[in-house]
Amino acid sequence: MENRLLVATSNQGKLREIRRLLSDIDVCVVGLEDYPGVILPPETGDSFSANAVAKAQAAAQLSRCPAVADDSGLEVEALGGEPGVRSARYAGEEADDAANNRLLLARLQGENSRSARFVCALAYCLPGHLPHVVVGECCGEILDVPRGTNGFGYDPLFYLPELGKTLAELTVDDKNRISHRASALQVAKPGLVAMLARAGGG
Ligand code: IMP
Repeated sequence: MENRLLVATSNQGKLREIRRLLSDIDVCVVGLEDYPGVILPPETGDSFSANAVAKAQAAAQLSRCPAVADDSGLEVEALGGEPGVRSARYAGEEADDAANNRLLLARLQGENSRSARFVCALAYCLPGHLPHVVVGECCGEILDVPRGTNGFGYDPLFYLPELGKTLAELTVDDKNRISHRASALQVAKPGLVAMLARAGGG
């Protein structure tokens, strides 16, 4: 029987992205809507890895299914790594992308160093086992004004010098070729395949 892999996210965009990136392995990728009893712990860790590990472990334990979880965000060098694990709520608990982007630009006003990176920690585990965790990143620079309408979050401010575009100016497929999430999944893939073989008794 085909193995199941629970992606511990309620973000349909992430689920679609992960499903597409794992389409070459023999697994049925499902989301949290198939497991209403799985409640994820709050993201209170002080690192992306800690949050991803807590979510993957809880999801696998509660669903009794192999699970994968990610936690991601933006680190800006001149801000000492901010907004980091607070990326989603940088401008406050209820902040939207526009408010977070405005605060980021305000904090960087007059700052010449614009280096930044997106980071994605991805954890995967079997029920009752310790998770494995891998990290992917995507390096770029923060612009002064937003550009592009695709993507989400900080994409319109995140400029890739080698492409001459922001992430919000890329198609979904092009972003998926270079994103921090895609890079973490590529690194995790052999371990995920081995884990699923163990789960299936293979
Ligand atoms: P989470 O992994 O869903 O907790 O994402 C945290 C936050 O990081 C998001 O709300 C965005 O603000 C930011 N973020 C993570 N990945 C991306 C990305 O690919 N583009 C733009 N912003 C991102």
